[in-house]
Parts: sequence; structure tokens; C-alpha cells
Amino acid sequence: MVKISVIGSSSMDLVVTSSKRPSAGETVLGESFKTVPGGKGANQAVAAAKLGAEVYMIGRVGDDHYGKIILDNFKENGVNIDYVEPVTHMESGTAHIILAEGDNSIVVVKGANDFITPEYVESAKEIIKASDIVLIQQEIPEETVEYVASLCKEVNVPLLLNPAPARQLKEEVIEQVTYLTPNEHETMVLFKEKAKEEVLHKYANKLFITEGKAGVRYFNGKAEVLVPSYKVEAVDTTGAGDTFNAAFAVALAEKKSFDESIRFANRAASLSVTKFGAQGGMPTREQVEGNL
Ligand code: ATP
Repeated sequence: MVKISVIGSSSMDLVVTSSKRPSAGETVLGESFKTVPGGKGANQAVAAAKLGAEVYMIGRVGDDHYGKIILDNFKENGVNIDYVEPVTHMESGTAHIILAEGDNSIVVVKGANDFITPEYVESAKEIIKASDIVLIQQEIPEETVEYVASLCKEVNVPLLLNPAPARQLKEEVIEQVTYLTPNEHETMVLFKEKAKEEVLHKYANKLFITEGKAGVRYFNGKAEVLVPSYKVEAVDTTGAGDTFNAAFAVALAEKKSFDESIRFANRAASLSVTKFGAQGGMPTREQVEGNL
């Protein structure tokens, strides 16, 4: 069993469906409401645990009702929460999602996720050092991502940075991380007007660009490779990237080759888009391997 530390956000998604999106000052009647655990960090931790890894979540929740639900959800999915400390007098992170007119509008309130500081992560240094791979995203403070990048380099533990949501990164951080997995939009934000081919060559075997249903592109030192995705009937692509990153980390930690790891992760992500919700569709290892 591989050991994975996930450093990232946990939140409660508050999802409303409505036939009409309200404009400023307007009130409309919606059709349904539900609450589901989310946050990129939590999604990736749950996905990795479902695929059979020993997962340590390093994050924070509020001391509110949502915080308890988020912690219970980790436990139900077999994620270790020794390093998820509630922040007193603070709300849990929330995402307020309106699904209307075939699209979504989202307001994210960071809440306790803003307290995932470098000092806080330092308290989990021992488990980070003992991990086969560390997985991190960008719904937490920028200085924490920078701290983790230099720590992992120093202690020689591979680090997979999923640079989502998009923001610019210091060159030094890109140099320090082992694997970087932007989607196409994040690639543009990171490398601006530079040609994709140029950055793929520069970051051979480090930069893996996810291109939705087309597949994943990287440069293996000799040639550019596009590992195609699997064709499925997509119902809800929310969390496809989270499932991909978790599965890619698990496969890399198991020392699978890059092509094999991408195939495994593409398969897991393609299964996840066939069901509703970010965590709802995350497959087990048997489901992924049964389909490879
Ligand atoms: P998210 O929707 O979670 O934000 P993302 O934008 O970060 O995702 P994508 O490149 O859209 O990332 O998707 C990540 C991976 O999910 C892809 O590399 C692919 O393996 C899989 N995937 C996404 N959409 C589909 C689809 N329609 N059919 C099959 N696989 C898909």
C-alpha cells in the first residue's frame, strides 16, 4: 500500500438547481438544494483512498456543523484525519454553486482553508517525509504551496502540484516540484504566450497537460506523447481533474511508468464523469482495473 499525503482544501458544496439564474437584485424560485462534501484537496484525498492508497489529509475545517460532516466523510472513505485540525471560531470552507441555464456560477468562501499556513503544515513534517508522494493544489495560501515545494525538494519526496485554480507560479517553484498537471486554461496562465511545445520540451517528464476528453500530453525526453482518454457518456465532469490527479499520484507512487500511470488515471477520471457529483463518481481500484 502506498502512502500519500494530500495538502489542500476541504469544503462543503451548497448546490442549488434553478431553471433561471437570478440577475442582480432579483429573487427566483429554485428546484432543488443539496449539500455535498468537496474542495479539491478533500476530493483528491477521497479519490486516492478509494483507489487503495493509505492517505493522510493535511488540512483544516471550521468548528461548525459542516466541519463535522467533512470529517465524517473523510472517515467513511478511509482517509486519515490526524492532521485535520479544526480552527476555533471559524467557518468551514464553502462553495455556493448555482446550476442554471446549462452552466454553473460559483462563489467560494475559503473559511478555515486560509489557515493551512506553512507553520501549520510544518507540524505534519514527519508524515510528509514518510510519504511515497505528496499531492497539493492551489485552494490554499500561495506561501504554503511554496513552502511545500521547497520542503519536498529538501527531504527528497516526490511532489505532484495540480495548479488549480489557475494562478501564476514562481519559476523556482516549478523547478522544485516533481510533477505539474495543469489543464489547458491553467497552462495558459502559467506559461502565457509561450508555445505549448516549447514548455513541454523544457519540462520533459514533469509537465503533464490534461486536455479533457482528448487525453494527456507530455514530452518524454524523445517525443511528445498524447495518451488518449477513454470514450464515455459524460454526465457530470465536476471533479474529473481531481480523480485524475489522485489516480496519477497513486500510480506514480506504485512506480508505474508515465504512460501506464496516465492510462490508469484517464480510466479512473473517465469513470468519474459518468456519475453525478465530484466525489459521487470516484471509482474503486477494482472498477478501474476491471476496465483497463
Ligand atoms: P475539472 O472538470 O475537474 O475542473 P480539469 O479541467 O482540471 O477538470 P480536464 O482536463 O477537463 O481537467 O479533465 C481531467 C481528466 O479527466 C482528463 O485528462 C481525462 O482523463 C478525464 N476527462 C475529463 N472529461 C472527460 C470526458 N468527457 N470523457 C472522458 N474523460 C474525461
